[in-house]
Amino acid sequence: MTAWRERLRLTPLAAELEQAHVYGVGAASAGLQDAALGAARLTGTAVPVLAEAAVTSATPFLRAPLLSRLGRVRSLHLPAEADSECPQCRVPAPCPTVKELDA
Ligand SMILES: [Zn+2]
Repeated sequence: MTAWRERLRLTPLAAELEQAHVYGVGAASAGLQDAALGAARLTGTAVPVLAEAAVTSATPFLRAPLLSRLGRVRSLHLPAEADSECPQCRVPAPCPTVKELDA
C-alpha cells in the first residue's frame, strides 16, 4: 500500500473501493496472461506490477462518470440553508439519499 492509502479514512465505501481495486488487479493480471492473446501474452513476475500500474492509472477515468453523477445527485438533495429540509425529498436534512451517499 502506498502512503496516501494508509492515510485514508476507511469508510465502508473506501473499503469497498479498495476491495474492487484488488479484484481489478487480479482481473488485469489474468487478462495480461490470457492465452487468447497469443504472442502478445505476458508472463513472469512483472505481470502483477504491470496490472497494478494499469488499474491504478485507469481507475480515476473509470470512476469519473459515476462520481460525477453521484455529485449531481448530492447537489440535488442538499438544502440551500443549513438545518432545513431536502428540496427533493421534503424531509429534514440530511435526507436518506445524502445519508446513503455519506455511508
Ligand atoms: Zn433528499
